Amino acid sequence: MSFSRVLQSGLMEREVRSLWRQYEERSLRKLRHGWRLWKLHREFDFSPPNPTEWSFLFPDTQIPDCANCGDNCCQGPHNTVLLRLVDVALFVDRGWTDRFTLEKPIFSPETLAQKPMLQAMVNSFHWRVFPVLKQKEDSTCTFLSSCGDCTIHQHRPWICRVFPYTLEMEKKAVSWAPRCRWTVEGEVDSPVSKELRHAVFHSFYTEKICDMILVQVYREELEAIGITKWLNL
Ligand code: SF4
Ligand code: SF4
Repeated sequence: MSFSRVLQSGLMEREVRSLWRQYEERSLRKLRHGWRLWKLHREFDFSPPNPTEWSFLFPDTQIPDCANCGDNCCQGPHNTVLLRLVDVALFVDRGWTDRFTLEKPIFSPETLAQKPMLQAMVNSFHWRVFPVLKQKEDSTCTFLSSCGDCTIHQHRPWICRVFPYTLEMEKKAVSWAPRCRWTVEGEVDSPVSKELRHAVFHSFYTEKICDMILVQVYREELEAIGITKWLNL
């Protein structure tokens, strides 16, 4: 997340981030939370991922070449954008609640069998709980302009920021979305490659795990913030 986004964040987004900060600082762990946390920790490993223990299933130096891309990864039901908690908060703050929906596209078993990453998303906790961005009749994202630009680039959702990278938690692997075929080769350990890898891991911990913990353990606090009406709980 950019510094300017922090400065411009609205009330609900700030409250969600504050809740997570309180969790990290351990000031929020009341007795009932302790019990719920214990149960959750039995199911999932929430320790921050160590990049050296993970496999990157693409060359070290590969980075997306969005400036020269001949595709549009903001189009098609398979590229439906699944929001995170903080995305929902930001959208509510900005009055964009008509741009997302809890009604998800349905994919055939054949399609899911051919697209393991899509299948993993559809089977996930996040897919069940969080809304997706609406698409227009031509299956382009609701925020895509007729010139092919993202009209909310500075505030685009988390998943758009990390595409084409995906974390496969069970495999401890970072994959590359097959749709993204426009790549450039950077130098090994170049600042760009490092920054992108850092972004993937940072996002993984602060958004994906944060969502799971806040939604499952701190539901009353989220209700008080007023965000739960936008989620499928
Ligand atoms: S397909 Fe890849 S290179 Fe093209 S815009 Fe999307 S992320 Fe960038
Ligand atoms: S929010 Fe922006 S980047 Fe994300 S899919 Fe829509 S147009 Fe593309």
